[in-house]
Amino acid sequence: MRRYLVAGNWKLNLGPAAGLVLASGVRDRLASLDSLASAEPGCDVLVCPPYVTIPAVREVADGHPLLLGAQTCADHESGAFTGEISAAMLAEVGCSHVIVGHSERRQYQRESDDQFVRKIDLAHAAGLTAIFCYGELLDERQAGRAETVVRDQITGVLPRLASVTAENTLLAYEPVWAIGTGETATPEIAQAMHAHSRTVVGELLGGELAADIRILYGGSCKPTNARELFALPDVDGGLIGGASLDAESFVGIVEAAVALV
Ligand code: PEP
Repeated sequence: MRRYLVAGNWKLNLGPAAGLVLASGVRDRLASLDSLASAEPGCDVLVCPPYVTIPAVREVADGHPLLLGAQTCADHESGAFTGEISAAMLAEVGCSHVIVGHSERRQYQRESDDQFVRKIDLAHAAGLTAIFCYGELLDERQAGRAETVVRDQITGVLPRLASVTAENTLLAYEPVWAIGTGETATPEIAQAMHAHSRTVVGELLGGELAADIRILYGGSCKPTNARELFALPDVDGGLIGGASLDAESFVGIVEAAVALV
């Protein structure tokens, strides 16, 4: 049985003081969801603040069903790489997850498959679970290329990793045209693309991993559409941008997952 994960990507928002306030609000609202405190919660909840906000969020998340992650990591272990933060450093400050391959990093930092492979391998070596993001652009969808693009993005990274398990890696299908636009993939598109992703993983790495690996949906997910998306057979939760910046909407999305468990 795949467990849901609802993950908030705070992006370039909220320094330590504001992050502490939001994380406290999330923590307090999660406390009313009894099933999250059970031994088998059926849904994990994760927030990924900016690096400098991580220690403040850790203070309020410690001992609660609220996991901590980062939005990226260095593709080197250590050395003369000014401004970078390594996967091992993230593990040391209490992160369990790291996002790799987000479309904004692909677009603005021009990050490549080679870097994603190095980042995920280093994340795994540090004991972190990687959330590998991929998804097509609007013009690629309009040209009928969405499935090919997604196949290429998965094929360019997953088979090259030193190890991929359903525990150390999650996928996040994020159609770029739906990120931050208010436009959500229809349930038909989301299900088709998640099922396609699973097929590609199966062809590359075997049916067992394909069946077990969790695939999140990302792209304008909110409390009003989360339940419909999470109810789809191949959707295992969401990577949430804008709606994760408000405790009520973020926990509203968690509630949608919990209701389906
Ligand atoms: C994201 O950036 O991963 C994302 C899904 O953003 P939003 O929810 O704002 O579309």
